[in-house]
Amino acid sequence: MESDIKLIDDNGKRLDGRAPDELRKIKIEVGVLHRAEGSCYLEWGGNKVMVAVYGPKEALPRHTQNPLRAIVNARYNMAAFSVDDRKRPGPDRRSREISKVISEALEKVILLEKFPRASIDVNIEVLNAEAGTRCAGLTAAGVALADAGIPLKDIPVSCAAGKIDGHVVLDLGKEEDNFGDADLPIAISPRTNEILLLQMDGHLTVEEFDKALEMAINGCHIASDIQKKAIMDKYQSAPEVK
Ligand code: ADP
Repeated sequence: MESDIKLIDDNGKRLDGRAPDELRKIKIEVGVLHRAEGSCYLEWGGNKVMVAVYGPKEALPRHTQNPLRAIVNARYNMAAFSVDDRKRPGPDRRSREISKVISEALEKVILLEKFPRASIDVNIEVLNAEAGTRCAGLTAAGVALADAGIPLKDIPVSCAAGKIDGHVVLDLGKEEDNFGDADLPIAISPRTNEILLLQMDGHLTVEEFDKALEMAINGCHIASDIQKKAIMDKYQSAPEVK
């Protein structure tokens, strides 16, 4: 969307003072909910997300079962109070789409064949939304799956890059998302750089797309290090099980 608001100044500084290739601050806490098999609370800039993982457990109703492998039900939900104008509670087109693409991304890293007929439920609750919630939700889901002890090929991680005032930048903030030119959220398996999710909103030239993709992959690796540190911090300090 075009606008008169200047999103990046002549020195390449953005509205919140970030450099073009700088992420917002990420904070991750592991295992915060005691009734879930695995959980994660994540803050990414102004985004606040809670993820709870349940399962693997018998998939119900039974017709949803796959005799060869587990199914993944990610459910993304934005709380009514998560945005300025109260959001109408309950699922809508946007949350169904995000739930679907996150489920498909997670299916690519979970060893599903180990759990035939089972379901793995991933509840993603967005408590505060300030652009980039699908990336924050998926990154938190990766940590919560690891916390649940679900066998994974890798811990999935997600980050976006985009274009504001004609410049390709990492991790769009709220105004940048509202008034910028394009947004490219991706998710990867950081060990192999396999793309698990790729969506695009707006227009990018081929060169801009390549630059944004490279930037988003770099952002994913930074977020991945924070995920791993949060998991290590929890499990290294946990008392030994006799
Ligand atoms: P993402 O959060 O993954 O970037 P979108 O690009 O669809 O997903 O949304 C961008 C931002 O727009 C959200 O993070 C949120 O801040 C805001 N937003 C989305 N849906 C609503 C809504 N129904 N009401 C108010 N703000 C919303």
